[in-house]
Amino acid sequence: MGITKPIVIEKETAVVDGVDISGAWNRMFEQRVIWDYDLRHMEKVTALEGGESLGWCYQCAKCIAVCPVDIVGDYGPRKIFRKLQTGMDLLESSDLWLCTTCMNCLRVCPKEVNMVEIMPAAREQAILDGKAIPDELQKAFDNISKYGNPQGESARKRADWVKDAGVPVNILPTTKKPVDVLWYVGSYPSYHGRGKDAAKAMARILAALGIDFGILAHEEKEDGDSVRLAGEKGLFEMLAEENIKVFNKYRFKKLVVTGPHEYNAFKHEYPKLGGEYDVLHYTQFLAGHLEQLKPLLRKRVSARVTFHDPCYLGRHNGEYVAPRNLLKAIPGIDVVEMFRCKENGYCCGGGGGGMWLDSFSRDFTSERLSERRVREAVEVGADILAVCCPYEVSRFEDAVKSTGHDGKLVVRDILELIDDSMRM
Ligand code: SF4
Ligand code: SF4
Repeated sequence: MGITKPIVIEKETAVVDGVDISGAWNRMFEQRVIWDYDLRHMEKVTALEGGESLGWCYQCAKCIAVCPVDIVGDYGPRKIFRKLQTGMDLLESSDLWLCTTCMNCLRVCPKEVNMVEIMPAAREQAILDGKAIPDELQKAFDNISKYGNPQGESARKRADWVKDAGVPVNILPTTKKPVDVLWYVGSYPSYHGRGKDAAKAMARILAALGIDFGILAHEEKEDGDSVRLAGEKGLFEMLAEENIKVFNKYRFKKLVVTGPHEYNAFKHEYPKLGGEYDVLHYTQFLAGHLEQLKPLLRKRVSARVTFHDPCYLGRHNGEYVAPRNLLKAIPGIDVVEMFRCKENGYCCGGGGGGMWLDSFSRDFTSERLSERRVREAVEVGADILAVCCPYEVSRFEDAVKSTGHDGKLVVRDILELIDDSMRM
C-alpha cells in the first residue's frame, strides 16, 4: 500500500487550446493518487456465493442515511466496504451480526449491493470456519434444533393456548380432516405470553368468519427463515424439509401465517426445496374477508393508532395496504403515520437473527432499534402502536418500559384490536 505520486500535481506552465492554465489552474490534469489496498478481506466476502455484490459499492453513501442500525450506531454497507478495504475481517468482526437484513439499503442502492444475501453468506462462512458466534444466538440455534422453537419449549405444549381460545380449533394431527385454511401459527404465538393473546384472537376471528381452518399443533416447527438469515443454512434446510413433510400429510387450499418471516420463508424459500403453497399473511387473508368482517366490528376502539410496518411484510414482500385497511375498518380508530413508514419503515431490530442478538447489539448501539421506534410512535401522539409480526409485541413492550412510556403507549397486534372490536 502506498502513495505513488504527490497528491497535488501542477505544471508550472501549461497552455491548452490557447488557454493559459498554468500553475493551480491545471491541477487534476495528471493522474491522481492511486492506493493499493490489501483486498484479502474484501475478497473473502465477495468470493462467497451471495457475497459478490459487496464489491460493487462505489461509496455514494445513500445506504447510510436509511440504515436503521446507523441511526442508533455506526453501520451500513458503505462503512463495511471501507473497513474491508482497510483491514477489517468481517468474519471476525462484530459488524457481522449487527445487520437485521431489513433491506432498506438495497432499496436505495444504485449498485444493488444486497446485504440480504451478503450477510447470510458471510455468517454461514463464519460458522463453517468455526468462528465464535454470540452466545444468545447459539442458544436459539440449539433450542430450535432440539425442540423446534427458539424458546426451548416442549413440542407437546405448542397448542396449549387453544384451551383458552374460547372457540373450537381443529387440530389436524388428531382430526386429519381436509380444510380450506391451514393456519401456521408460529413459535412466538404458540409459546410467548403476549404472542398467545394474538393466537387466541386469530382463532376467534376465523371462527366468527366461519372459516374452515386447522392447525398443526405439535407437528409444527419453527419455519427457519431467521435462522437462515443468521447464517445457519443447514438448520434452515432441515426445518424446511420437516415442515414440508408435515404440510404434505394434510389437505388444505391456503396456507395462512401469523408472521411475516414465515410468510417470506413459505413464499420464497420453501419452493426451492419443493414446498409450493398458496400462502397469505393473516392481514392479507383477513383484508380479503373485509366485507364479512366489517359487520362483526361493532365495538368502538377509540384510540389514535400508528402502525409499524414489519420489514418482511413491507419492504421484502410489498404489502403495505392490507394491515392499514384492517385498522381503518375498526370503528373509532384514528390511524396516524410515523415519519418512517411503508417503504422507509424503521426496523424493530428483530429480523435476520436480531431477535436473538439483543444483548450483543446493545454494546454497539446507543439504544435498541425497538426503543427508537417506540419514541417515533410517541412523537406522533399515538396511544397504540399496532403490529402484525409476532416478534414485535415483546420487543416493543420492553422498549415502552425502558424508554419510560409505560402507561402512555400500548402495543397491540392488529388481531387483538379486531378481536376487541368484535366483543360487545
Ligand atoms: S448505497 Fe450502495 S453503492 Fe452507495 S455506498 Fe451504499 S452500498 Fe455503496
Ligand atoms: S439491511 Fe438494513 S440493517 Fe442491514 S445494512 Fe442494510 S439498512 Fe442496515
